Amino acid sequence: MTDLDRILEVAQEAGRQAAHLCRAVHADTPESMDKGDKSPVTIADYGSQAVILRLIGDAFPDHGVISEEGSEHLRESAGDAGIEKIVGLVNAQIGGGADFDQVCNWIDHAGVEGAEYTWAIDPIDGTKGFLRRQQYAVAIGLMKNGVPFAGVLVCPNLPTDLDQPEGQKGVLFVAAKGRGAFSVPIDGGETERIHVSTSTDSATWRVLGSVESAHGDPSLVVAMMKEAGVGGGFVRYDSQVKYGVVANGSSEIYVRPRSNPEYRENIWDHVAGVIVCEEAGGRVTDVDGKDLDFSLGKRLLENRGILATCGGVVHDAVVAGLAAAENRPSS
Ligand code: AMP
Ligand code: MG
Repeated sequence: MTDLDRILEVAQEAGRQAAHLCRAVHADTPESMDKGDKSPVTIADYGSQAVILRLIGDAFPDHGVISEEGSEHLRESAGDAGIEKIVGLVNAQIGGGADFDQVCNWIDHAGVEGAEYTWAIDPIDGTKGFLRRQQYAVAIGLMKNGVPFAGVLVCPNLPTDLDQPEGQKGVLFVAAKGRGAFSVPIDGGETERIHVSTSTDSATWRVLGSVESAHGDPSLVVAMMKEAGVGGGFVRYDSQVKYGVVANGSSEIYVRPRSNPEYRENIWDHVAGVIVCEEAGGRVTDVDGKDLDFSLGKRLLENRGILATCGGVVHDAVVAGLAAAENRPSS
């Protein structure tokens, strides 16, 4: 087994355990706790991060980790009932044996700063979608020297066939540089190599954006569609499932213009999705068509928003359409 095989095996197992833990929380009622920044966070976010970093920390102690959650708020606010719940959820996935301190230590595992390989992990991306019981994702990305290299994106509520929205749900996307991208139904079914759409007719291009208007300026997206003659509709999903839906050819465009000009994207919201999309033949840049720079720490400090497409003429048309909609020269 090569190092990369092992990386993909461990990341997929971590993603599956995390997804099962998230579903177990859904089977109960997710309790929303208030983090300092007011974003909703549930016991599931912490539990998911604990099971992921337990496996990754054990298997790759010399890698770095940048992850969304830390145990400080959990320690302060969980209370006895919360502690019992999270320890129970984690132990159900790992076969028992962990106490609360151990769970917190896994959550806080940060590995080696500046390592050649650094993981970027969002234990539940789209927490609002998770709370609404709609779309959310467990995102486990790996960068090599600051460039997306491998990723596992688990989408527990995504229909395995988007034409059958009430059918089987739960898809794991997995990709690594030079190896292609694949989708695996998490409750059983065939692993398939996935490819982006090849449509060149803008009237059919389908667009994805965030449910939360504050995360993606939907009025600018609609203006871009008009400018570029994009006519396949605008669908809004929470989380990085949007990258998976472009990667498997079910949509041509995921665009994320900023609503707040000061906002810089978190790397854990993108690394896993970017490698899945690129390895399926897609292209990912910022909204100006500029390459993403993942080497600057936790945030994409030098990029404006995100644009993921099936590539080629589609990408160029959206970049130009956004510039026209914003009434500025296309770069
Ligand atoms: P989405 O599911 O597409 O709405 O994206 C969810 C992610 O948006 C969260 O994980 C946050 O990290 C991120 N986010 C939070 N605030 C903003 C913002 N003002 N603009 C863009 N993304 C944001
Ligand atoms: Mg996120």
